[in-house]
Amino acid sequence: MPLMVVGSVALDSVYTPFGETADALGGSAVYFSVAASLLSKVKVVGVIGGDYPTAELDRLAPRGIDWSGVERAEGESFRWKGKYSYDLQSRETLETRLGVFATFRPKLPPEWRATKYLFLGNIDPELQLAVLEQVQQPRLVVCDTMNYWIQGKRPELLKLLERVDILLVNDGEARELSGNWNIHKAGRWILDHGPKRVVIKQGEYGALLVEPDRTFYAPAFPLEEVFDPTGAGDAFAGGFMGYLARVDSVAPEQLRRAMIYGAAMGSFAVQGFGIRGFENVDYDTIQRRVKAFVDLTHVPSAEPLP
Ligand code: AMP
Repeated sequence: MPLMVVGSVALDSVYTPFGETADALGGSAVYFSVAASLLSKVKVVGVIGGDYPTAELDRLAPRGIDWSGVERAEGESFRWKGKYSYDLQSRETLETRLGVFATFRPKLPPEWRATKYLFLGNIDPELQLAVLEQVQQPRLVVCDTMNYWIQGKRPELLKLLERVDILLVNDGEARELSGNWNIHKAGRWILDHGPKRVVIKQGEYGALLVEPDRTFYAPAFPLEEVFDPTGAGDAFAGGFMGYLARVDSVAPEQLRRAMIYGAAMGSFAVQGFGIRGFENVDYDTIQRRVKAFVDLTHVPSAEPLP
């Protein structure tokens, strides 16, 4: 089933205690599509400047990523610079340069309007809404955002939330958006503002799928080596949406399985700098990791105590 993403196509400069990158391929749409394309074909909507290394995007196209919705505009590409703490649990944004995204007006190719699965990746909520308005009858609309937009474009973000099925954010973003410190209360606040469900990611502590009447928890895969957490959230989204588009269902049990595919993709993302964590990942690697989650969480049904 067709899957489409709008988001940043960026050049990232990242500092972690284990190394650094400068102007590396990144952005929410890139991480999302690299992960999602392991499960479904993906169409990308975005914009790049004349300085973008398009050969690197072309190199990824054979994976089933259609970049033809990425406009090339005059000016600088989106750039983001971030620095991680020693435990990789928190990061500081050193710089965000919107470049060509500041004046971007997305226009979908007509045949893309029939997309059924739509991911509104982290980017200006006004652009997310502009894309949503061009899609005819999506079956599932999932949206991501971050502190930059929660602080800078709150009214626009709240307007968008009324029209999305699932909001996917990390715990800090859920707290900031809702004004609630408690993560479950924050989830409830978000459900009261439009989305039918909310996915709250908690880094190495896993992710919650909060629904009106129940909550599902997917742990993070236990890794002994983590190099660069950048893009883990977008890769999670790619696994989540890529799985749902592949099985073409939004049934509640499929959403729970999608959480595990999301967690698996997030774990590949952090194993290398930039998108390198995905270099040797194929269908079998994914299936093995998903099976490992079953072992990680399976509890034999409770026997009566002796
Ligand atoms: P994540 O680690 O999943 O939150 O995603 C990190 C990616 O988000 C990086 O590749 C950045 O280029 C991109 N990014 C950072 N800030 C923004 C922003 N304000 N809008 C859109 N994309 C951003």
